[in-house]
Amino acid sequence: MAKEKDLLASVSDVSTETEFFSPIPEGYKAGKTKYCFVVGTVMSGLGKGIFSSCLAKLMQDKDLNVAPIKLEGYLNIDSGTLNPFRHGEVFVLDDGMECDMDLGTYERMLDLNLSGANFTTSGQIFRSVLNKERHGDYLGRDVQMIPHVTGEVKLKLRQLAMDSKADIVFVEIGGTVGDLENAYYIEAMRELAYEEGPKSCCFVALTYILEPKTLGEQKSKAAQLGIKQLMQCGIQPDIIACRAENPVGETARQKISIYSNVPLKRVFSMHDSASIYTIPSMLRDCGLDFEVLRLLNIEDRINLRNERKAWSKWCDFTDKIGTAKYSVNIGITGKYTSVRDSYASIINALEHAGIALGCDVNIKWIETTDITDENVTAHLVDVDGIIVPGGFGTRGTEGKIACIKHVRENNMAYLGLCLGFQMAVIEFARNVCGIKQANSTEIEPECIEPVIDILPEQKKIEGLGGNMRLGGRDIKLKSKTLAWKLHGKTAKVRMRFRHRYEVDPRYIEILEEKGMVFSGKAPDQPIMQILELPEHPFFMGTQAHPCLTSRPLRPQPMFVGLVAAAMEKKYYNEKMPEPLKAVQKVCS
Ligand code: GLN
Repeated sequence: MAKEKDLLASVSDVSTETEFFSPIPEGYKAGKTKYCFVVGTVMSGLGKGIFSSCLAKLMQDKDLNVAPIKLEGYLNIDSGTLNPFRHGEVFVLDDGMECDMDLGTYERMLDLNLSGANFTTSGQIFRSVLNKERHGDYLGRDVQMIPHVTGEVKLKLRQLAMDSKADIVFVEIGGTVGDLENAYYIEAMRELAYEEGPKSCCFVALTYILEPKTLGEQKSKAAQLGIKQLMQCGIQPDIIACRAENPVGETARQKISIYSNVPLKRVFSMHDSASIYTIPSMLRDCGLDFEVLRLLNIEDRINLRNERKAWSKWCDFTDKIGTAKYSVNIGITGKYTSVRDSYASIINALEHAGIALGCDVNIKWIETTDITDENVTAHLVDVDGIIVPGGFGTRGTEGKIACIKHVRENNMAYLGLCLGFQMAVIEFARNVCGIKQANSTEIEPECIEPVIDILPEQKKIEGLGGNMRLGGRDIKLKSKTLAWKLHGKTAKVRMRFRHRYEVDPRYIEILEEKGMVFSGKAPDQPIMQILELPEHPFFMGTQAHPCLTSRPLRPQPMFVGLVAAAMEKKYYNEKMPEPLKAVQKVCS
Protein backbone atom coordinates (compact mmCIF):
# COMPACT_ATOMS: atom_id res chain seq x y z
CA MET A 1 0.00 0.00 0.00
CA ALA A 2 2.84 2.36 0.92
CA LYS A 3 4.30 1.91 -2.53
CA GLU A 4 1.01 2.90 -4.21
CA LYS A 5 0.76 6.02 -2.12
CA ASP A 6 4.23 6.99 -3.26
CA LEU A 7 3.24 6.54 -6.86
CA LEU A 8 0.20 8.75 -6.44
CA ALA A 9 2.31 11.37 -4.70
CA SER A 10 4.84 11.42 -7.51
CA VAL A 11 2.34 11.59 -10.39
CA SER A 12 0.59 14.45 -8.70
CA ASP A 13 3.76 16.52 -8.91
CA VAL A 14 2.73 19.14 -11.47
CA SER A 15 6.02 21.02 -11.53
CA THR A 16 8.09 21.50 -14.67
CA GLU A 17 10.63 19.03 -13.31
CA THR A 18 8.68 15.87 -14.10
CA GLU A 19 6.82 14.29 -16.97
CA PHE A 20 3.94 13.46 -14.65
CA PHE A 21 0.85 15.58 -14.55
CA SER A 22 -2.00 14.16 -12.57
CA PRO A 23 -3.51 16.82 -10.35
CA ILE A 24 -5.10 15.19 -7.29
CA PRO A 25 -7.85 17.01 -5.38
CA GLU A 26 -6.72 18.24 -2.01
CA GLY A 27 -7.52 15.76 0.73
CA TYR A 28 -7.96 12.84 -1.69
CA LYS A 29 -7.26 9.50 -0.03
CA ALA A 30 -6.25 6.65 -2.28
CA GLY A 31 -8.02 3.38 -1.56
CA LYS A 32 -11.23 4.79 -0.10
CA THR A 33 -12.99 4.88 -3.47
CA LYS A 34 -12.83 2.11 -6.03
CA TYR A 35 -13.64 2.60 -9.70
CA CYS A 36 -15.71 0.49 -12.04
CA PHE A 37 -15.29 1.42 -15.71
CA VAL A 38 -17.85 0.43 -18.31
CA VAL A 39 -16.99 0.62 -21.99
CA GLY A 40 -18.69 -0.66 -25.12
CA THR A 41 -17.33 -2.52 -28.11
CA VAL A 42 -18.83 -3.54 -31.48
CA MET A 43 -21.54 -0.89 -31.44
CA SER A 44 -23.08 1.89 -29.42
CA GLY A 45 -26.53 1.70 -27.88
CA LEU A 46 -25.79 -1.56 -26.04
CA GLY A 47 -27.10 -0.37 -22.73
CA LYS A 48 -23.86 0.51 -20.94
CA GLY A 49 -25.83 2.88 -18.74
CA ILE A 50 -28.37 0.17 -17.97
CA PHE A 51 -25.69 -2.35 -17.07
CA SER A 52 -23.74 0.14 -15.02
CA SER A 53 -26.79 1.41 -13.13
CA CYS A 54 -28.01 -2.14 -12.40
CA LEU A 55 -24.62 -3.16 -11.04
CA ALA A 56 -24.45 0.05 -9.02
CA LYS A 57 -27.90 -0.71 -7.63
CA LEU A 58 -26.76 -4.12 -6.38
CA MET A 59 -23.86 -2.40 -4.60
CA GLN A 60 -26.08 0.29 -3.17
CA ASP A 61 -28.41 -2.41 -1.79
CA LYS A 62 -25.40 -3.77 0.09
CA ASP A 63 -25.09 -0.40 1.81
CA LEU A 64 -22.19 0.77 -0.32
CA ASN A 65 -22.12 4.37 -1.39
CA VAL A 66 -22.11 4.64 -5.19
CA ALA A 67 -21.64 7.56 -7.56
CA PRO A 68 -22.12 7.20 -11.32
CA ILE A 69 -20.57 9.42 -13.97
CA LYS A 70 -21.04 9.48 -17.70
CA LEU A 71 -18.20 10.70 -19.91
CA GLU A 72 -19.48 11.86 -23.29
CA GLY A 73 -17.19 12.12 -26.28
CA TYR A 74 -18.90 14.98 -28.06
CA LEU A 75 -17.67 18.56 -28.00
CA ASN A 76 -20.93 20.17 -26.90
CA ILE A 77 -20.63 21.57 -23.39
CA ASP A 78 -23.88 19.87 -22.40
CA SER A 79 -26.78 18.07 -24.09
CA GLY A 80 -29.02 21.15 -24.17
CA THR A 81 -28.32 21.87 -27.79
CA LEU A 82 -28.72 18.29 -28.98
CA ASN A 83 -31.68 17.24 -31.07
CA PRO A 84 -33.59 14.54 -29.15
CA PHE A 85 -34.32 12.88 -32.48
CA ARG A 86 -30.61 12.15 -32.90
CA HIS A 87 -29.51 11.63 -29.35
CA GLY A 88 -32.53 10.75 -27.22
CA GLU A 89 -34.19 13.02 -24.72
CA VAL A 90 -32.36 15.81 -22.95
CA PHE A 91 -32.45 14.87 -19.29
CA VAL A 92 -32.44 17.81 -16.87
CA LEU A 93 -30.88 17.44 -13.43
CA ASP A 94 -31.93 19.32 -10.32
CA ASP A 95 -28.98 21.73 -10.61
CA GLY A 96 -30.04 22.60 -14.17
CA MET A 97 -27.46 20.48 -15.99
CA GLU A 98 -28.85 19.31 -19.33
CA CYS A 99 -27.44 15.90 -19.94
CA ASP A 100 -27.68 12.54 -21.62
CA MET A 101 -30.71 10.30 -21.04
CA ASP A 102 -28.51 7.71 -19.32
CA LEU A 103 -28.42 9.98 -16.30
CA GLY A 104 -32.15 9.33 -16.08
CA THR A 105 -31.48 5.60 -15.96
CA TYR A 106 -29.04 6.13 -13.07
CA GLU A 107 -31.44 8.37 -11.16
CA ARG A 108 -34.31 5.91 -11.56
CA MET A 109 -32.34 2.77 -10.78
CA LEU A 110 -30.51 4.28 -7.80
CA ASP A 111 -33.25 6.63 -6.63
CA LEU A 112 -30.64 9.39 -6.40
CA ASN A 113 -30.67 13.02 -7.47
CA LEU A 114 -27.54 13.59 -9.53
CA SER A 115 -25.80 16.79 -10.57
CA GLY A 116 -23.31 18.19 -13.06
CA ALA A 117 -20.59 16.33 -11.13
CA ASN A 118 -22.02 13.11 -12.58
CA PHE A 119 -21.73 14.11 -16.21
CA THR A 120 -19.04 15.49 -18.47
CA THR A 121 -18.37 15.98 -22.15
CA SER A 122 -15.21 16.42 -24.18
CA GLY A 123 -16.37 20.02 -24.56
CA GLN A 124 -16.25 20.53 -20.79
CA ILE A 125 -12.89 18.79 -20.43
CA PHE A 126 -11.26 20.83 -23.21
CA ARG A 127 -12.83 24.06 -21.99
CA SER A 128 -11.38 23.50 -18.58
CA VAL A 129 -7.92 22.63 -19.99
CA LEU A 130 -7.95 25.72 -22.22
CA ASN A 131 -9.03 27.95 -19.34
CA LYS A 132 -6.15 26.64 -17.27
CA GLU A 133 -3.75 27.21 -20.14
CA ARG A 134 -4.87 30.87 -20.43
CA HIS A 135 -4.52 31.16 -16.71
CA GLY A 136 -0.91 30.04 -16.89
CA ASP A 137 -1.51 26.91 -14.82
CA TYR A 138 0.69 24.70 -16.98
CA LEU A 139 3.87 26.54 -16.05
CA GLY A 140 5.21 27.06 -19.56
CA ARG A 141 4.76 23.48 -20.67
CA ASP A 142 3.27 22.50 -23.99
CA VAL A 143 -0.26 21.33 -23.25
CA GLN A 144 -0.79 17.79 -24.47
CA MET A 145 -3.49 15.13 -24.69
CA ILE A 146 -1.30 13.08 -22.35
CA PRO A 147 -0.77 14.06 -19.57
CA HIS A 148 -2.84 17.28 -19.44
CA VAL A 149 -6.15 16.30 -20.99
CA THR A 150 -6.08 12.84 -19.44
CA GLY A 151 -5.06 14.53 -16.18
CA GLU A 152 -8.20 16.66 -16.33
CA VAL A 153 -10.37 13.56 -16.76
CA LYS A 154 -8.75 11.83 -13.79
CA LEU A 155 -9.18 14.98 -11.74
CA LYS A 156 -12.92 15.02 -12.50
CA LEU A 157 -13.26 11.36 -11.45
CA ARG A 158 -11.29 11.78 -8.25
CA GLN A 159 -13.14 14.95 -7.39
CA LEU A 160 -16.41 13.04 -7.69
CA ALA A 161 -14.98 10.21 -5.59
CA MET A 162 -13.99 12.63 -2.88
CA ASP A 163 -17.11 14.82 -2.86
CA SER A 164 -19.52 11.88 -2.96
CA LYS A 165 -17.48 9.82 -0.47
CA ALA A 166 -18.36 6.91 -2.72
CA ASP A 167 -17.16 3.37 -2.13
CA ILE A 168 -17.42 2.85 -5.87
CA VAL A 169 -17.52 5.37 -8.69
CA PHE A 170 -19.14 3.88 -11.79
CA VAL A 171 -17.65 5.44 -14.89
CA GLU A 172 -19.51 4.96 -18.16
CA ILE A 173 -17.66 5.96 -21.28
CA GLY A 174 -19.94 7.02 -24.12
CA GLY A 175 -19.56 5.62 -27.63
CA THR A 176 -17.49 2.59 -28.57
CA VAL A 177 -13.85 1.58 -28.08
CA GLY A 178 -12.03 2.72 -31.21
CA ASP A 179 -13.88 6.02 -31.54
CA LEU A 180 -11.40 8.85 -31.91
CA GLU A 181 -13.39 11.02 -29.55
CA ASN A 182 -13.29 8.72 -26.56
CA ALA A 183 -9.74 7.44 -26.98
CA TYR A 184 -8.35 9.83 -24.39
CA TYR A 185 -11.00 8.78 -21.86
CA ILE A 186 -9.85 5.19 -22.26
CA GLU A 187 -6.24 6.26 -21.86
CA ALA A 188 -7.19 8.24 -18.74
CA MET A 189 -8.81 5.20 -17.14
CA ARG A 190 -5.76 3.10 -17.91
CA GLU A 191 -3.59 5.69 -16.20
CA LEU A 192 -5.95 5.99 -13.26
CA ALA A 193 -5.92 2.23 -12.70
CA TYR A 194 -2.10 2.25 -12.76
CA GLU A 195 -1.88 5.14 -10.34
CA GLU A 196 -4.49 3.85 -7.90
CA GLY A 197 -2.85 0.43 -7.81
CA PRO A 198 -4.03 -3.19 -7.86
CA LYS A 199 -7.62 -4.01 -6.86
CA SER A 200 -8.70 -0.42 -7.15
CA CYS A 201 -10.40 -0.60 -10.54
CA CYS A 202 -12.62 -3.02 -12.36
CA PHE A 203 -13.07 -2.91 -16.12
CA VAL A 204 -16.28 -4.08 -17.74
CA ALA A 205 -16.57 -4.42 -21.49
CA LEU A 206 -20.02 -4.62 -23.00
CA THR A 207 -20.07 -6.31 -26.33
CA TYR A 208 -22.56 -7.67 -28.82
CA ILE A 209 -23.06 -11.22 -30.03
CA LEU A 210 -24.50 -11.37 -33.50
CA GLU A 211 -27.12 -13.93 -34.44
CA PRO A 212 -27.84 -13.56 -38.15
CA LYS A 213 -31.18 -15.08 -39.11
CA THR A 214 -29.64 -16.74 -42.16
CA LEU A 215 -27.16 -18.69 -39.98
CA GLY A 216 -29.35 -19.33 -36.98
CA GLU A 217 -26.37 -19.39 -34.61
CA GLN A 218 -24.55 -16.95 -32.39
CA LYS A 219 -21.34 -15.48 -33.80
CA SER A 220 -18.74 -13.98 -31.48
CA LYS A 221 -16.06 -12.72 -33.88
CA ALA A 222 -17.07 -9.08 -33.86
CA ALA A 223 -17.13 -9.22 -30.06
CA GLN A 224 -13.67 -10.80 -29.93
CA LEU A 225 -12.21 -8.16 -32.21
CA GLY A 226 -13.82 -5.37 -30.22
CA ILE A 227 -12.37 -6.69 -26.97
CA LYS A 228 -8.98 -7.13 -28.61
CA GLN A 229 -9.07 -3.47 -29.53
CA LEU A 230 -9.63 -2.60 -25.88
CA MET A 231 -6.69 -4.79 -24.87
CA GLN A 232 -4.53 -2.99 -27.42
CA CYS A 233 -5.19 0.15 -25.41
CA GLY A 234 -3.51 -1.52 -22.45
CA ILE A 235 -6.68 -2.51 -20.68
CA GLN A 236 -7.43 -6.02 -19.54
CA PRO A 237 -11.18 -6.36 -19.01
CA ASP A 238 -12.26 -8.08 -15.78
CA ILE A 239 -15.84 -8.68 -16.82
CA ILE A 240 -17.44 -9.06 -20.21
CA ALA A 241 -21.15 -8.51 -20.56
CA CYS A 242 -22.44 -10.03 -23.78
CA ARG A 243 -25.47 -8.25 -25.12
CA ALA A 244 -27.56 -10.39 -27.43
CA GLU A 245 -31.10 -10.98 -28.46
CA ASN A 246 -31.21 -14.47 -26.89
CA PRO A 247 -29.28 -15.92 -23.93
CA VAL A 248 -25.64 -16.28 -24.99
CA GLY A 249 -24.66 -19.94 -25.28
CA GLU A 250 -21.69 -21.66 -23.67
CA THR A 251 -19.76 -21.89 -26.97
CA ALA A 252 -19.79 -18.17 -27.67
CA ARG A 253 -18.91 -17.39 -24.05
CA GLN A 254 -16.01 -19.88 -24.13
CA LYS A 255 -14.63 -18.32 -27.30
CA ILE A 256 -14.77 -14.90 -25.76
CA SER A 257 -13.19 -16.13 -22.56
CA ILE A 258 -10.22 -17.72 -24.33
CA TYR A 259 -9.63 -14.66 -26.50
CA SER A 260 -9.76 -12.20 -23.66
CA ASN A 261 -8.22 -13.91 -20.59
CA VAL A 262 -11.49 -13.38 -18.75
CA PRO A 263 -12.64 -16.43 -16.76
CA LEU A 264 -15.86 -17.95 -18.09
CA LYS A 265 -17.81 -17.11 -14.92
CA ARG A 266 -17.16 -13.44 -15.64
CA VAL A 267 -18.33 -13.65 -19.25
CA PHE A 268 -21.94 -12.89 -18.69
CA SER A 269 -25.00 -13.11 -20.93
CA MET A 270 -27.00 -9.90 -20.86
CA HIS A 271 -29.69 -10.80 -23.34
CA ASP A 272 -32.74 -8.73 -24.15
CA SER A 273 -35.25 -8.53 -21.37
CA ALA A 274 -38.80 -7.21 -21.35
CA SER A 275 -38.07 -4.71 -18.59
CA ILE A 276 -34.80 -3.14 -17.52
CA TYR A 277 -35.94 -3.53 -13.93
CA THR A 278 -35.37 -7.29 -14.09
CA ILE A 279 -31.73 -6.89 -15.13
CA PRO A 280 -30.42 -6.45 -11.56
CA SER A 281 -31.70 -9.92 -10.78
CA MET A 282 -30.06 -11.27 -13.94
CA LEU A 283 -26.69 -9.92 -12.75
CA ARG A 284 -27.29 -11.13 -9.23
CA ASP A 285 -28.19 -14.66 -10.33
CA CYS A 286 -24.79 -14.93 -12.02
CA GLY A 287 -23.03 -13.71 -8.90
CA LEU A 288 -21.60 -10.73 -10.74
CA ASP A 289 -22.05 -8.45 -7.75
CA PHE A 290 -19.77 -10.59 -5.58
CA GLU A 291 -17.26 -11.00 -8.40
CA VAL A 292 -16.93 -7.22 -8.49
CA LEU A 293 -16.64 -6.98 -4.72
CA ARG A 294 -13.82 -9.53 -4.80
CA LEU A 295 -12.08 -7.78 -7.69
CA LEU A 296 -12.16 -4.52 -5.76
CA ASN A 297 -11.40 -6.16 -2.44
CA ILE A 298 -14.27 -4.56 -0.57
CA GLU A 299 -16.26 -7.57 0.56
CA ASP A 300 -15.74 -6.46 4.13
CA ARG A 301 -17.59 -3.16 3.56
CA ILE A 302 -20.98 -4.62 2.75
CA ASN A 303 -24.07 -4.99 4.93
CA LEU A 304 -26.04 -8.10 4.05
CA ARG A 305 -28.94 -7.34 6.34
CA ASN A 306 -29.48 -4.10 4.43
CA GLU A 307 -29.29 -5.99 1.19
CA ARG A 308 -31.98 -8.47 2.24
CA LYS A 309 -34.34 -5.64 3.04
CA ALA A 310 -33.62 -3.63 -0.10
CA TRP A 311 -33.82 -6.69 -2.31
CA SER A 312 -37.16 -7.84 -0.97
CA LYS A 313 -38.60 -4.35 -1.57
CA TRP A 314 -37.24 -4.39 -5.10
CA CYS A 315 -38.67 -7.86 -5.77
CA ASP A 316 -42.10 -6.75 -4.55
CA PHE A 317 -41.92 -4.23 -7.37
CA THR A 318 -40.47 -6.48 -10.10
CA ASP A 319 -42.87 -9.34 -9.24
CA LYS A 320 -45.71 -7.14 -10.44
CA ILE A 321 -44.16 -6.65 -13.87
CA GLY A 322 -46.11 -8.52 -16.51
CA THR A 323 -48.94 -9.57 -14.19
CA ALA A 324 -51.42 -6.76 -14.87
CA LYS A 325 -55.07 -7.70 -15.29
CA TYR A 326 -56.01 -4.33 -16.75
CA SER A 327 -54.73 -2.30 -19.64
CA VAL A 328 -55.26 1.19 -20.96
CA ASN A 329 -54.13 3.00 -24.09
CA ILE A 330 -52.48 6.34 -23.58
CA GLY A 331 -51.93 8.53 -26.61
CA ILE A 332 -48.81 10.68 -26.71
CA THR A 333 -48.77 13.47 -29.22
CA GLY A 334 -45.18 13.77 -30.24
CA LYS A 335 -43.01 15.45 -32.76
CA TYR A 336 -40.29 12.85 -32.63
CA THR A 337 -42.75 10.03 -32.90
CA SER A 338 -40.39 7.64 -34.63
CA VAL A 339 -37.79 7.60 -31.89
CA ARG A 340 -38.90 6.32 -28.49
CA ASP A 341 -35.70 7.56 -26.85
CA SER A 342 -36.91 11.14 -27.26
CA TYR A 343 -39.61 10.41 -24.68
CA ALA A 344 -37.77 7.92 -22.47
CA SER A 345 -38.71 9.51 -19.16
CA ILE A 346 -42.40 9.71 -20.02
CA ILE A 347 -42.41 6.06 -21.05
CA ASN A 348 -40.71 5.18 -17.77
CA ALA A 349 -43.08 7.28 -15.69
CA LEU A 350 -46.08 5.57 -17.33
CA GLU A 351 -44.51 2.18 -16.66
CA HIS A 352 -43.98 3.04 -12.97
CA ALA A 353 -47.56 4.25 -12.61
CA GLY A 354 -48.96 1.23 -14.47
CA ILE A 355 -47.05 -1.26 -12.33
CA ALA A 356 -48.25 0.48 -9.16
CA LEU A 357 -51.87 0.26 -10.33
CA GLY A 358 -51.75 -3.25 -11.79
CA CYS A 359 -52.39 -1.96 -15.30
CA ASP A 360 -50.49 -2.32 -18.57
CA VAL A 361 -50.09 1.03 -20.26
CA ASN A 362 -49.96 0.76 -24.04
CA ILE A 363 -48.65 3.85 -25.73
CA LYS A 364 -50.11 5.08 -28.96
CA TRP A 365 -48.04 7.72 -30.76
CA ILE A 366 -50.11 10.43 -32.35
CA GLU A 367 -48.68 12.62 -35.08
CA THR A 368 -50.64 15.86 -34.82
CA THR A 369 -49.56 17.76 -37.94
CA ASP A 370 -52.71 16.83 -39.83
CA ILE A 371 -55.20 16.74 -36.95
CA THR A 372 -58.06 19.23 -37.01
CA ASP A 373 -61.30 19.71 -35.05
CA GLU A 374 -63.06 17.83 -37.84
CA ASN A 375 -60.96 14.67 -37.89
CA VAL A 376 -59.73 14.52 -34.28
CA THR A 377 -62.29 11.93 -33.13
CA ALA A 378 -60.97 9.37 -35.57
CA HIS A 379 -57.43 9.86 -34.25
CA LEU A 380 -58.44 9.40 -30.62
CA VAL A 381 -61.04 6.60 -30.81
CA ASP A 382 -58.89 3.96 -29.23
CA VAL A 383 -57.17 5.94 -26.49
CA ASP A 384 -58.28 6.23 -22.87
CA GLY A 385 -56.23 9.30 -22.09
CA ILE A 386 -53.61 11.52 -23.65
CA ILE A 387 -50.37 13.24 -22.86
CA VAL A 388 -49.17 16.28 -24.75
CA PRO A 389 -45.46 16.27 -23.93
CA GLY A 390 -42.83 18.99 -23.95
CA GLY A 391 -41.51 20.40 -27.17
CA PHE A 392 -40.20 23.43 -28.98
CA GLY A 393 -41.37 25.17 -32.12
CA THR A 394 -44.64 25.37 -33.97
CA ARG A 395 -45.02 22.08 -35.79
CA GLY A 396 -48.24 20.24 -34.98
CA THR A 397 -49.38 22.71 -32.30
CA GLU A 398 -52.84 23.34 -33.80
CA GLY A 399 -53.38 19.56 -33.93
CA LYS A 400 -52.41 19.32 -30.27
CA ILE A 401 -54.91 22.03 -29.40
CA ALA A 402 -57.61 20.10 -31.31
CA CYS A 403 -56.75 16.96 -29.29
CA ILE A 404 -56.95 18.88 -26.02
CA LYS A 405 -60.34 20.33 -26.95
CA HIS A 406 -61.57 16.81 -27.69
CA VAL A 407 -60.40 15.29 -24.41
CA ARG A 408 -61.66 18.24 -22.39
CA GLU A 409 -65.11 18.08 -23.93
CA ASN A 410 -65.32 14.28 -23.75
CA ASN A 411 -64.11 13.86 -20.18
CA MET A 412 -61.02 11.89 -21.21
CA ALA A 413 -57.95 11.91 -18.97
CA TYR A 414 -55.41 14.57 -19.90
CA LEU A 415 -51.89 15.35 -18.76
CA GLY A 416 -50.03 18.26 -20.36
CA LEU A 417 -46.31 18.55 -19.82
CA CYS A 418 -44.67 21.94 -20.32
CA LEU A 419 -45.67 22.65 -23.92
CA GLY A 420 -48.77 20.52 -23.17
CA PHE A 421 -49.56 22.85 -20.24
CA GLN A 422 -49.20 25.88 -22.49
CA MET A 423 -51.39 24.35 -25.22
CA ALA A 424 -54.09 23.58 -22.62
CA VAL A 425 -54.10 27.24 -21.57
CA ILE A 426 -54.43 28.35 -25.21
CA GLU A 427 -57.25 25.86 -25.88
CA PHE A 428 -59.14 26.97 -22.77
CA ALA A 429 -58.63 30.65 -23.54
CA ARG A 430 -59.93 30.21 -27.09
CA ASN A 431 -62.82 27.82 -26.54
CA VAL A 432 -63.99 28.55 -23.01
CA CYS A 433 -62.98 32.17 -22.37
CA GLY A 434 -63.79 33.25 -25.91
CA ILE A 435 -60.34 34.75 -26.56
CA LYS A 436 -60.35 33.52 -30.13
CA GLN A 437 -56.91 34.88 -31.06
CA ALA A 438 -55.17 33.35 -28.03
CA ASN A 439 -51.76 31.91 -28.78
CA SER A 440 -48.16 31.69 -27.60
CA THR A 441 -45.56 34.16 -28.86
CA GLU A 442 -43.29 31.17 -29.46
CA ILE A 443 -45.75 30.03 -32.14
CA GLU A 444 -47.01 33.39 -33.35
CA PRO A 445 -44.59 36.17 -32.34
CA GLU A 446 -46.95 38.99 -33.33
CA CYS A 447 -50.03 37.44 -31.76
CA ILE A 448 -52.47 39.93 -30.27
CA GLU A 449 -53.64 37.75 -27.37
CA PRO A 450 -50.40 36.28 -26.07
CA VAL A 451 -51.74 34.12 -23.24
CA ILE A 452 -48.37 32.38 -23.29
CA ASP A 453 -45.40 34.69 -23.48
CA ILE A 454 -41.88 35.27 -22.27
CA LEU A 455 -42.14 36.96 -18.90
CA PRO A 456 -40.83 40.55 -18.78
CA GLU A 457 -38.02 39.70 -16.33
CA GLN A 458 -36.87 36.93 -18.65
CA LYS A 459 -36.94 39.23 -21.67
CA LYS A 460 -34.41 41.42 -19.88
CA ILE A 461 -31.87 38.62 -19.72
CA GLU A 462 -32.54 37.41 -23.24
CA GLY A 463 -29.49 39.20 -24.59
CA LEU A 464 -27.29 37.18 -22.29
CA GLY A 465 -28.66 33.98 -23.74
CA GLY A 466 -29.62 32.65 -20.34
CA ASN A 467 -33.37 32.99 -20.32
CA MET A 468 -34.28 29.32 -20.11
CA ARG A 469 -35.72 28.33 -16.73
CA LEU A 470 -33.74 25.23 -16.01
CA GLY A 471 -33.53 22.69 -13.22
CA GLY A 472 -35.33 21.97 -9.98
CA ARG A 473 -37.76 24.56 -8.59
CA ASP A 474 -40.23 24.45 -5.71
CA ILE A 475 -43.93 24.55 -6.47
CA LYS A 476 -46.42 25.82 -3.92
CA LEU A 477 -49.58 23.69 -4.02
CA LYS A 478 -53.00 25.12 -3.40
CA SER A 479 -54.69 23.11 -0.69
CA LYS A 480 -57.74 20.95 -1.42
CA THR A 481 -56.92 20.80 -5.14
CA LEU A 482 -56.36 17.56 -7.04
CA ALA A 483 -52.62 18.28 -7.38
CA TRP A 484 -52.40 18.80 -3.63
CA LYS A 485 -54.27 15.57 -2.90
CA LEU A 486 -52.25 13.54 -5.40
CA HIS A 487 -48.97 14.75 -3.91
CA GLY A 488 -49.91 13.60 -0.44
CA LYS A 489 -51.54 16.87 0.71
CA THR A 490 -48.23 18.63 1.09
CA ALA A 491 -47.82 22.38 0.67
CA LYS A 492 -44.72 22.20 -1.50
CA VAL A 493 -43.27 19.86 -4.12
CA ARG A 494 -40.15 20.09 -6.22
CA MET A 495 -40.04 19.43 -9.94
CA ARG A 496 -37.68 20.06 -12.84
CA PHE A 497 -38.16 22.71 -15.49
CA ARG A 498 -36.84 23.49 -18.94
CA HIS A 499 -38.74 26.25 -20.68
CA ARG A 500 -38.87 29.91 -21.64
CA TYR A 501 -42.56 30.70 -21.95
CA GLU A 502 -45.21 31.04 -19.24
CA VAL A 503 -48.83 32.09 -18.71
CA ASP A 504 -48.99 35.86 -19.10
CA PRO A 505 -50.23 37.05 -15.67
CA ARG A 506 -52.66 39.48 -17.35
CA TYR A 507 -54.85 36.53 -18.39
CA ILE A 508 -54.91 34.66 -15.09
CA GLU A 509 -58.05 36.33 -13.77
CA ILE A 510 -60.21 35.50 -16.77
CA LEU A 511 -58.89 31.93 -16.98
CA GLU A 512 -59.70 31.41 -13.31
CA GLU A 513 -63.08 33.04 -13.63
CA LYS A 514 -64.04 30.51 -16.29
CA GLY A 515 -63.03 27.57 -14.13
CA MET A 516 -59.32 26.89 -14.64
CA VAL A 517 -57.56 26.39 -11.31
CA PHE A 518 -53.86 27.08 -10.98
CA SER A 519 -53.12 24.58 -8.26
CA GLY A 520 -49.34 25.00 -8.37
CA LYS A 521 -47.41 28.27 -8.48
CA ALA A 522 -43.87 29.47 -7.98
CA PRO A 523 -43.50 30.36 -4.27
CA ASP A 524 -42.75 34.04 -4.76
CA GLN A 525 -43.50 34.98 -8.34
CA PRO A 526 -46.72 34.99 -10.38
CA ILE A 527 -45.56 31.97 -12.36
CA MET A 528 -48.29 29.38 -12.95
CA GLN A 529 -46.89 25.87 -12.70
CA ILE A 530 -49.81 23.44 -12.43
CA LEU A 531 -53.32 23.76 -13.79
CA GLU A 532 -56.43 21.64 -13.42
CA LEU A 533 -60.14 21.71 -14.24
CA PRO A 534 -62.16 20.70 -11.18
CA GLU A 535 -65.26 19.94 -13.25
CA HIS A 536 -63.37 17.39 -15.33
CA PRO A 537 -62.51 13.82 -14.14
CA PHE A 538 -58.78 14.37 -14.79
CA PHE A 539 -57.44 17.34 -16.64
CA MET A 540 -54.06 18.47 -15.46
CA GLY A 541 -51.13 20.35 -16.91
CA THR A 542 -47.79 21.37 -15.56
CA GLN A 543 -45.11 23.70 -16.74
CA ALA A 544 -42.62 21.22 -15.24
CA HIS A 545 -41.39 17.81 -16.42
CA PRO A 546 -42.60 15.54 -13.61
CA CYS A 547 -41.57 12.48 -15.64
CA LEU A 548 -37.93 13.28 -14.85
CA THR A 549 -38.40 12.51 -11.17
CA SER A 550 -40.58 9.41 -11.39
CA ARG A 551 -38.87 6.43 -9.76
CA PRO A 552 -39.81 2.75 -9.91
CA LEU A 553 -40.69 2.52 -6.23
CA ARG A 554 -42.01 6.09 -6.07
CA PRO A 555 -44.14 6.63 -9.17
CA GLN A 556 -44.83 10.26 -9.96
CA PRO A 557 -48.35 11.13 -8.67
CA MET A 558 -49.53 13.00 -11.79
CA PHE A 559 -48.82 9.93 -13.92
CA VAL A 560 -50.54 7.71 -11.37
CA GLY A 561 -53.50 10.08 -11.52
CA LEU A 562 -53.61 9.97 -15.32
CA VAL A 563 -53.48 6.17 -15.55
CA ALA A 564 -55.99 5.80 -12.71
CA ALA A 565 -58.41 8.16 -14.44
CA ALA A 566 -58.02 6.32 -17.74
CA MET A 567 -58.70 3.00 -15.96
CA GLU A 568 -61.72 4.39 -14.19
CA LYS A 569 -63.27 5.51 -17.43
CA LYS A 570 -62.54 2.26 -19.21
CA TYR A 571 -63.52 -0.16 -16.43
CA TYR A 572 -66.35 1.80 -14.95
CA ASN A 573 -68.45 -0.53 -12.73
CA GLU A 574 -65.78 -3.23 -12.55
CA LYS A 575 -64.12 -4.57 -9.45
CA MET A 576 -60.94 -2.54 -9.26
CA PRO A 577 -57.48 -3.47 -7.95
CA GLU A 578 -56.53 -2.19 -4.50
CA PRO A 579 -53.98 0.41 -5.67
CA LEU A 580 -56.59 2.07 -7.86
CA LYS A 581 -59.06 2.20 -5.00
CA ALA A 582 -56.40 3.90 -2.93
CA VAL A 583 -55.87 6.55 -5.61
CA GLN A 584 -59.62 7.05 -5.98
CA LYS A 585 -59.89 7.58 -2.23
CA VAL A 586 -57.12 10.16 -2.32
CA CYS A 587 -58.66 12.03 -5.23
CA SER A 588 -62.28 12.00 -4.12
N1 GLN B 1 -41.27 25.60 -25.95
C1 GLN B 1 -41.86 25.85 -24.69
C2 GLN B 1 -41.07 26.84 -23.86
O1 GLN B 1 -39.93 27.09 -24.14
C3 GLN B 1 -42.02 24.54 -23.93
C4 GLN B 1 -40.73 23.91 -23.57
C5 GLN B 1 -40.87 22.48 -23.19
O2 GLN B 1 -41.88 21.85 -23.46
N2 GLN B 1 -39.82 21.92 -22.60
O3 GLN B 1 -41.57 27.38 -22.91
